[in-house]
Amino acid sequence: MTDTVAVDDVPHGTSDKKVLILIFDGVRWDKLQEARTPNIDTLAAEGSLGRTMTYDPDEYSALTVSGPGHSTLLTGVWPDKHRVLSNVIEPNELERFPDVLTRLRNVRPDLSTFAIGDWPPLMEQIIDAPHVKILHPSNEGTGEGASSARQIIAWASATLSRHNPDVGYVYLILADVAGHRFGGASAAYIEAIEQLDREVSTLVQALRGRPTYDQEDWLILAATDHGHLDEGGHGGGEPEVRDIWTLAVGGDIRPAPVGGAGMAMVDIVPTALRHLGVEIDPSWELDGAAADELGPTPERA
Ligand SMILES: [Zn+2]
Repeated sequence: MTDTVAVDDVPHGTSDKKVLILIFDGVRWDKLQEARTPNIDTLAAEGSLGRTMTYDPDEYSALTVSGPGHSTLLTGVWPDKHRVLSNVIEPNELERFPDVLTRLRNVRPDLSTFAIGDWPPLMEQIIDAPHVKILHPSNEGTGEGASSARQIIAWASATLSRHNPDVGYVYLILADVAGHRFGGASAAYIEAIEQLDREVSTLVQALRGRPTYDQEDWLILAATDHGHLDEGGHGGGEPEVRDIWTLAVGGDIRPAPVGGAGMAMVDIVPTALRHLGVEIDPSWELDGAAADELGPTPERA
């Protein structure tokens, strides 16, 4: 585990096709719509912000906790394969079905990869070996210091501004903390989502302000792992916990109306790989499909 890594430690990448994966923990679909999120709305208008559900079949429908969710988003396989079935994370099959950053480190070591986030099991147990991995201590809700979301975004923005990563993963726990403390129906939960939207603005400005941006082709992928009950909490099969969303902007993503059927959780990884020009080996047994290969969104309902 690394608490702080200098931006200078991010290796110089090689690809003009680049991917930024942005993950918000615990942001339910209807509250994302209810909150005032002008920056996410702008991205959605340029790309595709759609609805999806956590796990099917029913055997896994109650696995709406963070461990299985982030493992699914990062490995591109459902829990029946990665076997992360709780927030204990262990035992699992992540060696066989690694996170996409580690997968890339193996098949395309020339690509510069980083991950930063503030949930320890994710950074310590699920994400294995990108070039740079930072577990930032979460101080959301503690009243101590600046929000860890803001600090993480500051680091990621500096990295995007000054260096040349090819694949970045940025994770923020902010909204999930608000959901647990105040409930999914609370004003504080909406405020947390609105803060996330402001962080998106900072990050996207840094990305689009890169001196080489005009020669690059960035794909931004964003998603959440589950929603929240009105009273707070998750981990069951309730609709407000299972009803989630995915967002894709850039690359070959076709703009689509907001709220159509979105990428499934397992589509994030193949969509990123395809954009990077990485051929998917059938032996990886990925469950999803690249988003630009999907049909018109209504067929994906
Ligand atoms: Zn979560």
